[in-house]
Amino acid sequence: MASSRTIIIAGAGIGGLSAALALAARGFRAVILEQAPKLETAGAGIQLPPNATRILIALGLTERLAPAIVVPDEVRIMSTRSERPLGRVPLRGATLARYGAPYWVVHRGDLQEALAQAAESDPDVALKLGVTVEDCAAYPGGVTVAARHRHIMIEERGLALVGADGLWSTLRTRLTGDAEPRFAGRVAWRATIPADAAPAAFRDPVVNLWLGRDAHLVHYPIRGGRDVNIVAIVTDPTPRPGWSQPATREELMARFARWPRPVRQLLEAPERWLTWALHDRAPLADWGRDAFTLLGDAAHPMLPFLAQGGAMAIEDADVLARALAATPERPDQAFRAYEKARRRRTARAQNAARKTGRIYGLTGIGAVARNTVIRLSSGTRLLARQDWLYGWKG
Ligand SMILES: Cc1cc2nc3c(=O)[nH]c(=O)nc-3n(C[C@H](O)[C@H](O)[C@H](O)COP(=O)(O)OP(=O)(O)OC[C@H]3O[C@@H](n4cnc5c(N)ncnc54)[C@H](O)[C@@H]3O)c2cc1C
Repeated sequence: MASSRTIIIAGAGIGGLSAALALAARGFRAVILEQAPKLETAGAGIQLPPNATRILIALGLTERLAPAIVVPDEVRIMSTRSERPLGRVPLRGATLARYGAPYWVVHRGDLQEALAQAAESDPDVALKLGVTVEDCAAYPGGVTVAARHRHIMIEERGLALVGADGLWSTLRTRLTGDAEPRFAGRVAWRATIPADAAPAAFRDPVVNLWLGRDAHLVHYPIRGGRDVNIVAIVTDPTPRPGWSQPATREELMARFARWPRPVRQLLEAPERWLTWALHDRAPLADWGRDAFTLLGDAAHPMLPFLAQGGAMAIEDADVLARALAATPERPDQAFRAYEKARRRRTARAQNAARKTGRIYGLTGIGAVARNTVIRLSSGTRLLARQDWLYGWKG
Protein backbone atom coordinates (compact mmCIF):
# COMPACT_ATOMS: atom_id res chain seq x y z
CA MET A 1 0.00 0.00 0.00
CA ALA A 2 1.47 3.37 -1.03
CA SER A 3 2.09 5.84 1.81
CA SER A 4 -0.05 8.31 -0.17
CA ARG A 5 -2.97 6.16 1.01
CA THR A 6 -2.01 6.45 4.69
CA ILE A 7 -4.53 8.17 6.94
CA ILE A 8 -3.25 9.06 10.41
CA ILE A 9 -5.75 8.85 13.25
CA ALA A 10 -5.12 10.44 16.64
CA GLY A 11 -6.80 8.33 19.34
CA ALA A 12 -7.71 4.66 19.63
CA GLY A 13 -11.11 5.05 21.28
CA ILE A 14 -14.32 3.67 19.82
CA GLY A 15 -14.22 6.33 17.10
CA GLY A 16 -10.56 6.04 16.10
CA LEU A 17 -10.56 2.23 15.98
CA SER A 18 -13.83 2.12 14.01
CA ALA A 19 -12.45 4.67 11.56
CA ALA A 20 -9.28 2.63 11.06
CA LEU A 21 -11.29 -0.51 10.30
CA ALA A 22 -13.68 1.34 7.97
CA LEU A 23 -10.75 2.94 6.12
CA ALA A 24 -8.86 -0.35 5.79
CA ALA A 25 -12.02 -1.96 4.39
CA ARG A 26 -11.93 0.69 1.62
CA GLY A 27 -8.31 0.17 0.66
CA PHE A 28 -6.60 2.79 2.84
CA ARG A 29 -3.79 2.24 5.31
CA ALA A 30 -4.59 3.57 8.79
CA VAL A 31 -1.97 4.53 11.38
CA ILE A 32 -3.48 5.09 14.82
CA LEU A 33 -1.46 7.10 17.34
CA GLU A 34 -2.74 6.56 20.89
CA GLN A 35 -1.35 8.34 23.92
CA ALA A 36 -2.12 5.52 26.37
CA PRO A 37 0.71 2.96 26.67
CA LYS A 38 -1.93 0.24 27.00
CA LEU A 39 -5.53 0.20 25.77
CA GLU A 40 -7.98 0.75 28.60
CA THR A 41 -10.16 -2.26 29.29
CA ALA A 42 -11.58 -0.84 32.51
CA GLY A 43 -14.78 1.17 32.53
CA ALA A 44 -18.36 0.08 32.39
CA GLY A 45 -21.17 -0.79 30.02
CA ILE A 46 -22.21 0.87 26.82
CA GLN A 47 -25.45 0.59 24.87
CA LEU A 48 -25.07 0.09 21.15
CA PRO A 49 -28.25 1.10 19.34
CA PRO A 50 -29.13 -0.20 15.84
CA ASN A 51 -27.51 2.75 14.04
CA ALA A 52 -24.19 1.58 15.56
CA THR A 53 -24.61 -2.21 15.45
CA ARG A 54 -25.46 -2.08 11.74
CA ILE A 55 -21.98 -0.64 11.06
CA LEU A 56 -20.14 -2.91 13.53
CA ILE A 57 -21.78 -5.91 11.85
CA ALA A 58 -20.74 -4.64 8.41
CA LEU A 59 -17.18 -4.27 9.74
CA GLY A 60 -17.23 -7.99 10.56
CA LEU A 61 -17.24 -7.68 14.37
CA THR A 62 -20.24 -9.91 15.18
CA GLU A 63 -18.23 -13.04 15.90
CA ARG A 64 -15.65 -11.28 18.09
CA LEU A 65 -18.40 -9.53 20.09
CA ALA A 66 -20.83 -12.46 20.35
CA PRO A 67 -19.63 -13.79 23.74
CA ALA A 68 -19.71 -10.29 25.24
CA ILE A 69 -23.02 -8.86 24.13
CA VAL A 70 -26.50 -9.03 25.60
CA VAL A 71 -29.52 -8.34 23.39
CA PRO A 72 -32.00 -6.69 25.76
CA ASP A 73 -35.71 -7.45 25.48
CA GLU A 74 -36.71 -3.86 26.24
CA VAL A 75 -35.97 -0.60 28.01
CA ARG A 76 -38.07 -0.59 31.18
CA ILE A 77 -38.74 2.96 32.41
CA MET A 78 -39.30 2.52 36.13
CA SER A 79 -41.16 4.65 38.64
CA THR A 80 -39.33 5.13 41.92
CA ARG A 81 -42.72 5.67 43.60
CA SER A 82 -44.62 2.57 42.54
CA GLU A 83 -41.49 0.49 41.74
CA ARG A 84 -43.40 -0.56 38.62
CA PRO A 85 -42.75 0.17 34.94
CA LEU A 86 -44.09 3.48 33.65
CA GLY A 87 -43.35 2.40 30.11
CA ARG A 88 -41.61 -0.29 28.09
CA VAL A 89 -39.70 0.31 24.88
CA PRO A 90 -39.45 -2.96 22.95
CA LEU A 91 -35.94 -3.76 21.65
CA ARG A 92 -35.28 -7.44 20.86
CA GLY A 93 -37.06 -8.30 17.67
CA ALA A 94 -38.58 -4.80 17.45
CA THR A 95 -35.37 -3.03 16.37
CA LEU A 96 -34.55 -5.83 13.92
CA ALA A 97 -38.00 -5.54 12.37
CA ARG A 98 -38.11 -1.74 12.36
CA TYR A 99 -34.48 -0.81 11.61
CA GLY A 100 -32.93 -4.01 10.29
CA ALA A 101 -30.32 -4.14 13.08
CA PRO A 102 -30.17 -5.33 16.71
CA TYR A 103 -29.74 -3.38 19.96
CA TRP A 104 -26.74 -4.56 21.99
CA VAL A 105 -25.35 -3.80 25.42
CA VAL A 106 -21.70 -4.60 26.08
CA HIS A 107 -18.82 -3.83 28.42
CA ARG A 108 -16.85 -0.93 26.99
CA GLY A 109 -13.60 -2.87 27.54
CA ASP A 110 -14.94 -5.83 25.54
CA LEU A 111 -15.94 -3.52 22.68
CA GLN A 112 -12.56 -1.78 22.75
CA GLU A 113 -10.78 -5.14 22.79
CA ALA A 114 -12.81 -6.53 19.88
CA LEU A 115 -12.11 -3.40 17.82
CA ALA A 116 -8.41 -3.43 18.74
CA GLN A 117 -8.04 -7.15 17.93
CA ALA A 118 -9.71 -6.61 14.55
CA ALA A 119 -7.35 -3.67 13.93
CA GLU A 120 -4.28 -5.66 14.96
CA SER A 121 -5.20 -8.55 12.67
CA ASP A 122 -5.67 -6.19 9.70
CA PRO A 123 -2.41 -5.71 7.77
CA ASP A 124 -3.57 -2.23 6.71
CA VAL A 125 -3.90 -0.93 10.28
CA ALA A 126 -0.94 0.03 12.49
CA LEU A 127 -1.71 0.79 16.13
CA LYS A 128 1.06 2.75 17.89
CA LEU A 129 0.60 3.02 21.65
CA GLY A 130 2.22 5.52 24.00
CA VAL A 131 2.29 8.18 21.26
CA THR A 132 0.77 11.59 22.08
CA VAL A 133 -0.13 13.80 19.15
CA GLU A 134 0.89 17.39 19.80
CA ASP A 135 0.72 19.25 16.52
CA CYS A 136 0.06 18.96 12.80
CA ALA A 137 0.90 20.78 9.60
CA ALA A 138 -0.08 20.52 5.94
CA TYR A 139 2.45 20.24 3.12
CA PRO A 140 1.71 19.83 -0.59
CA GLY A 141 0.29 16.34 -1.01
CA GLY A 142 -0.01 15.44 2.66
CA VAL A 143 0.24 16.15 6.37
CA THR A 144 2.88 15.81 9.05
CA VAL A 145 1.98 15.01 12.62
CA ALA A 146 4.29 15.85 15.49
CA ALA A 147 3.95 13.45 18.40
CA ARG A 148 5.76 12.50 21.57
CA HIS A 149 6.78 8.93 22.38
CA ARG A 150 8.07 8.85 25.94
CA HIS A 151 10.38 11.91 25.87
CA ILE A 152 11.23 11.74 22.20
CA MET A 153 9.51 13.80 19.53
CA ILE A 154 8.58 11.80 16.44
CA GLU A 155 7.02 12.72 13.13
CA GLU A 156 4.43 10.76 11.16
CA ARG A 157 3.55 11.53 7.55
CA GLY A 158 0.39 10.65 5.68
CA LEU A 159 -2.25 11.78 3.26
CA ALA A 160 -4.57 13.18 5.96
CA LEU A 161 -5.16 13.38 9.72
CA VAL A 162 -8.31 12.50 11.66
CA GLY A 163 -8.52 13.85 15.21
CA ALA A 164 -10.38 11.17 17.18
CA ASP A 165 -8.80 12.26 20.44
CA GLY A 166 -11.94 12.57 22.53
CA LEU A 167 -13.66 15.16 24.69
CA TRP A 168 -10.48 17.05 25.64
CA SER A 169 -9.14 16.92 22.05
CA THR A 170 -5.79 18.58 21.47
CA LEU A 171 -6.44 18.63 17.74
CA ARG A 172 -9.78 20.37 18.13
CA THR A 173 -8.00 23.16 20.00
CA ARG A 174 -5.27 23.29 17.32
CA LEU A 175 -7.74 23.31 14.42
CA THR A 176 -10.60 25.42 15.74
CA GLY A 177 -9.28 27.28 18.78
CA ASP A 178 -12.48 26.23 20.54
CA ALA A 179 -12.73 26.71 24.31
CA GLU A 180 -12.94 24.02 26.99
CA PRO A 181 -15.88 21.59 27.28
CA ARG A 182 -18.74 22.77 29.50
CA PHE A 183 -19.59 20.94 32.73
CA ALA A 184 -23.24 19.87 32.91
CA GLY A 185 -23.57 19.97 36.71
CA ARG A 186 -24.04 16.20 36.86
CA VAL A 187 -21.72 13.33 37.68
CA ALA A 188 -22.04 9.71 36.52
CA TRP A 189 -21.16 7.00 39.04
CA ARG A 190 -20.38 3.74 37.31
CA ALA A 191 -19.72 0.20 38.47
CA THR A 192 -20.07 -3.39 37.35
CA ILE A 193 -20.88 -6.34 39.59
CA PRO A 194 -21.15 -10.10 39.05
CA ALA A 195 -24.77 -10.89 38.10
CA ASP A 196 -25.25 -13.13 41.16
CA ALA A 197 -24.52 -10.14 43.42
CA ALA A 198 -27.52 -8.28 41.96
CA PRO A 199 -31.14 -8.74 43.13
CA ALA A 200 -32.61 -11.58 40.98
CA ALA A 201 -35.12 -9.29 39.22
CA PHE A 202 -32.24 -7.14 37.92
CA ARG A 203 -30.53 -9.96 36.04
CA ASP A 204 -33.14 -10.07 33.26
CA PRO A 205 -31.95 -9.01 29.78
CA VAL A 206 -33.49 -5.57 30.15
CA VAL A 207 -32.19 -1.99 30.19
CA ASN A 208 -33.72 -0.52 33.36
CA LEU A 209 -34.10 3.25 33.57
CA TRP A 210 -35.23 4.71 36.91
CA LEU A 211 -36.23 8.35 36.98
CA GLY A 212 -36.01 9.99 40.39
CA ARG A 213 -35.51 13.31 42.08
CA ASP A 214 -32.06 14.84 41.35
CA ALA A 215 -30.84 11.51 40.00
CA HIS A 216 -31.52 8.74 37.57
CA LEU A 217 -30.23 5.24 37.35
CA VAL A 218 -29.58 2.86 34.46
CA HIS A 219 -28.66 -0.80 34.88
CA TYR A 220 -28.45 -3.76 32.54
CA PRO A 221 -26.62 -7.08 32.24
CA ILE A 222 -23.43 -7.27 30.16
CA ARG A 223 -20.75 -9.89 29.35
CA GLY A 224 -23.32 -12.37 28.08
CA GLY A 225 -25.29 -11.87 31.33
CA ARG A 226 -22.38 -12.65 33.69
CA ASP A 227 -22.12 -9.07 35.01
CA VAL A 228 -24.50 -6.19 35.65
CA ASN A 229 -23.58 -2.64 34.67
CA ILE A 230 -24.82 0.23 36.85
CA VAL A 231 -24.76 3.95 36.04
CA ALA A 232 -26.15 6.43 38.54
CA ILE A 233 -26.27 10.04 37.38
CA VAL A 234 -26.63 12.62 40.11
CA THR A 235 -26.84 16.40 40.20
CA ASP A 236 -23.53 17.63 41.55
CA PRO A 237 -22.00 21.10 41.22
CA THR A 238 -18.40 19.83 41.56
CA PRO A 239 -16.64 18.66 38.41
CA ARG A 240 -14.37 15.65 39.10
CA PRO A 241 -11.80 15.20 36.36
CA GLY A 242 -11.19 11.72 34.89
CA TRP A 243 -12.61 8.35 35.85
CA SER A 244 -10.81 7.46 39.00
CA GLN A 245 -11.62 10.15 41.51
CA PRO A 246 -12.11 8.72 44.98
CA ALA A 247 -15.81 7.98 45.27
CA THR A 248 -17.18 6.24 48.29
CA ARG A 249 -20.26 4.05 48.34
CA GLU A 250 -21.50 5.93 51.44
CA GLU A 251 -21.54 9.17 49.49
CA LEU A 252 -23.65 7.59 46.77
CA MET A 253 -25.97 5.81 49.20
CA ALA A 254 -26.70 9.13 50.90
CA ARG A 255 -27.90 10.47 47.52
CA PHE A 256 -30.23 7.48 47.11
CA ALA A 257 -31.41 7.31 50.72
CA ARG A 258 -35.08 7.64 49.76
CA TRP A 259 -35.03 5.32 46.78
CA PRO A 260 -36.77 1.90 46.73
CA ARG A 261 -35.12 -0.90 48.70
CA PRO A 262 -34.21 -3.16 45.73
CA VAL A 263 -32.44 -0.21 44.09
CA ARG A 264 -30.51 0.50 47.27
CA GLN A 265 -29.54 -3.18 47.47
CA LEU A 266 -28.16 -2.94 43.95
CA LEU A 267 -26.20 0.22 44.74
CA GLU A 268 -24.73 -1.36 47.86
CA ALA A 269 -23.26 -4.27 45.88
CA PRO A 270 -20.23 -2.70 44.12
CA GLU A 271 -17.04 -2.39 46.17
CA ARG A 272 -15.63 0.22 43.81
CA TRP A 273 -17.24 3.11 41.99
CA LEU A 274 -15.74 5.30 39.28
CA THR A 275 -17.03 8.82 38.73
CA TRP A 276 -17.16 10.85 35.54
CA ALA A 277 -18.17 14.50 35.45
CA LEU A 278 -20.49 15.03 32.48
CA HIS A 279 -19.37 17.54 29.87
CA ASP A 280 -20.39 18.43 26.37
CA ARG A 281 -19.85 21.28 23.96
CA ALA A 282 -22.14 23.34 21.76
CA PRO A 283 -22.29 22.15 18.12
CA LEU A 284 -19.28 23.31 16.13
CA ALA A 285 -19.59 25.04 12.74
CA ASP A 286 -16.20 24.02 11.25
CA TRP A 287 -14.59 20.72 12.15
CA GLY A 288 -11.41 21.07 10.15
CA ARG A 289 -9.43 22.52 7.28
CA ASP A 290 -7.17 21.16 4.54
CA ALA A 291 -6.62 17.44 5.07
CA PHE A 292 -7.51 17.64 8.77
CA THR A 293 -10.80 16.78 10.39
CA LEU A 294 -12.33 15.65 13.68
CA LEU A 295 -14.39 12.59 14.58
CA GLY A 296 -16.40 11.34 17.55
CA ASP A 297 -16.25 13.20 20.87
CA ALA A 298 -13.49 15.45 19.50
CA ALA A 299 -16.04 16.84 17.02
CA HIS A 300 -19.36 16.61 18.88
CA PRO A 301 -19.19 15.51 22.53
CA MET A 302 -22.67 15.00 23.92
CA LEU A 303 -24.24 14.20 27.28
CA PRO A 304 -24.95 10.48 27.69
CA PHE A 305 -28.75 10.73 28.06
CA LEU A 306 -29.46 9.36 24.57
CA ALA A 307 -26.74 6.67 24.78
CA GLN A 308 -25.52 7.89 21.39
CA GLY A 309 -22.01 9.41 21.78
CA GLY A 310 -20.18 6.22 20.83
CA ALA A 311 -22.79 5.38 18.20
CA MET A 312 -22.27 8.78 16.53
CA ALA A 313 -18.50 8.17 16.50
CA ILE A 314 -19.12 4.83 14.75
CA GLU A 315 -21.43 6.53 12.22
CA ASP A 316 -18.73 9.18 11.63
CA ALA A 317 -16.22 6.42 10.87
CA ASP A 318 -18.49 4.90 8.25
CA VAL A 319 -19.27 8.23 6.53
CA LEU A 320 -15.64 9.38 6.65
CA ALA A 321 -14.35 6.20 4.98
CA ARG A 322 -16.99 6.43 2.27
CA ALA A 323 -16.21 10.10 1.60
CA LEU A 324 -12.46 9.40 1.33
CA ALA A 325 -13.08 6.45 -0.97
CA ALA A 326 -15.15 8.70 -3.25
CA THR A 327 -12.30 11.24 -3.76
CA PRO A 328 -9.11 9.52 -2.56
CA GLU A 329 -6.86 12.03 -4.34
CA ARG A 330 -8.52 15.00 -2.60
CA PRO A 331 -8.78 14.29 1.15
CA ASP A 332 -9.55 17.97 1.75
CA GLN A 333 -12.66 17.73 -0.41
CA ALA A 334 -13.56 14.37 1.09
CA PHE A 335 -13.32 15.79 4.62
CA ARG A 336 -15.52 18.79 3.79
CA ALA A 337 -18.10 16.39 2.29
CA TYR A 338 -17.89 14.20 5.42
CA GLU A 339 -18.32 17.20 7.73
CA LYS A 340 -21.30 18.45 5.71
CA ALA A 341 -22.92 15.02 5.90
CA ARG A 342 -22.40 14.80 9.68
CA ARG A 343 -22.85 18.32 11.05
CA ARG A 344 -26.63 18.56 11.23
CA ARG A 345 -27.22 15.08 12.52
CA THR A 346 -24.60 15.24 15.27
CA ALA A 347 -25.73 18.75 16.31
CA ARG A 348 -29.29 17.45 16.59
CA ALA A 349 -28.07 14.57 18.75
CA GLN A 350 -26.04 16.94 20.98
CA ASN A 351 -29.08 19.18 21.48
CA ALA A 352 -31.46 16.24 21.96
CA ALA A 353 -29.13 14.71 24.57
CA ARG A 354 -29.22 17.97 26.57
CA LYS A 355 -33.01 18.14 26.28
CA THR A 356 -33.40 14.52 27.39
CA GLY A 357 -31.20 15.31 30.38
CA ARG A 358 -33.55 18.16 31.32
CA ILE A 359 -36.59 15.87 30.96
CA TYR A 360 -34.96 13.18 33.15
CA GLY A 361 -34.21 15.86 35.75
CA LEU A 362 -37.78 17.21 36.00
CA THR A 363 -39.30 17.48 39.46
CA GLY A 364 -42.78 18.25 40.85
CA ILE A 365 -45.55 18.83 38.31
CA GLY A 366 -43.08 18.52 35.42
CA ALA A 367 -42.15 15.00 36.52
CA VAL A 368 -45.84 14.08 36.90
CA ALA A 369 -46.56 15.30 33.34
CA ARG A 370 -43.53 13.41 31.97
CA ASN A 371 -44.55 10.20 33.70
CA THR A 372 -48.14 10.53 32.46
CA VAL A 373 -46.98 10.90 28.86
CA ILE A 374 -44.77 7.80 29.21
CA ARG A 375 -47.57 5.82 30.87
CA LEU A 376 -50.04 6.67 28.10
CA SER A 377 -47.62 5.86 25.25
CA SER A 378 -47.52 2.42 23.71
CA GLY A 379 -44.16 0.68 23.40
CA THR A 380 -44.23 1.11 19.63
CA ARG A 381 -44.86 4.80 20.03
CA LEU A 382 -41.96 5.19 22.48
CA LEU A 383 -39.68 3.33 20.07
CA ALA A 384 -40.89 5.37 17.08
CA ARG A 385 -39.62 8.52 18.85
CA GLN A 386 -36.13 7.15 18.23
CA ASP A 387 -36.68 6.54 14.49
CA TRP A 388 -34.49 9.50 13.51
CA LEU A 389 -31.62 8.03 15.53
CA TYR A 390 -31.97 4.28 15.13
CA GLY A 391 -33.23 4.29 11.54
CA TRP A 392 -30.17 6.13 10.16
CA LYS A 393 -28.76 4.41 7.10
CA GLY A 394 -26.20 7.05 6.05
C1 LIG B 1 -21.48 7.95 31.63
C2 LIG B 1 -21.41 7.76 30.15
C3 LIG B 1 -22.20 6.81 29.53
C4 LIG B 1 -22.17 6.65 28.13
N1 LIG B 1 -22.98 5.71 27.56
C5 LIG B 1 -22.98 5.59 26.21
C6 LIG B 1 -23.81 4.61 25.59
O1 LIG B 1 -24.53 3.87 26.27
N2 LIG B 1 -23.80 4.52 24.22
C7 LIG B 1 -22.99 5.33 23.45
O2 LIG B 1 -23.01 5.20 22.21
N3 LIG B 1 -22.19 6.26 24.03
C8 LIG B 1 -22.15 6.40 25.37
N4 LIG B 1 -21.33 7.32 25.97
C9 LIG B 1 -20.49 8.18 25.10
C10 LIG B 1 -19.26 7.45 24.61
O3 LIG B 1 -18.55 6.88 25.68
C11 LIG B 1 -18.33 8.41 23.87
O4 LIG B 1 -19.09 9.21 23.00
C12 LIG B 1 -17.30 7.64 23.08
O5 LIG B 1 -16.49 6.87 23.93
C13 LIG B 1 -16.44 8.60 22.25
O6 LIG B 1 -15.46 7.86 21.57
P1 LIG B 1 -14.22 8.61 20.93
O7 LIG B 1 -13.42 7.54 20.27
O8 LIG B 1 -14.66 9.76 20.14
O9 LIG B 1 -13.43 9.23 22.16
P2 LIG B 1 -12.69 8.49 23.37
O10 LIG B 1 -13.33 7.20 23.69
O11 LIG B 1 -12.55 9.50 24.45
O12 LIG B 1 -11.25 8.14 22.78
C14 LIG B 1 -10.27 9.13 22.55
C15 LIG B 1 -8.91 8.46 22.55
O13 LIG B 1 -7.93 9.42 22.18
C16 LIG B 1 -6.81 9.29 23.02
N5 LIG B 1 -6.12 10.60 22.99
C17 LIG B 1 -6.51 11.74 23.59
N6 LIG B 1 -5.64 12.73 23.29
C18 LIG B 1 -4.69 12.19 22.49
C19 LIG B 1 -3.52 12.71 21.86
N7 LIG B 1 -3.18 14.00 21.98
N8 LIG B 1 -2.75 11.86 21.11
C20 LIG B 1 -3.08 10.54 20.97
N9 LIG B 1 -4.18 9.99 21.57
C21 LIG B 1 -4.97 10.82 22.30
C22 LIG B 1 -7.38 8.90 24.36
O14 LIG B 1 -6.42 8.27 25.19
C23 LIG B 1 -8.50 7.95 23.94
O15 LIG B 1 -8.04 6.63 23.83
C24 LIG B 1 -21.32 7.48 27.35
C25 LIG B 1 -20.50 8.41 27.97
C26 LIG B 1 -20.53 8.56 29.36
C27 LIG B 1 -19.66 9.59 29.99
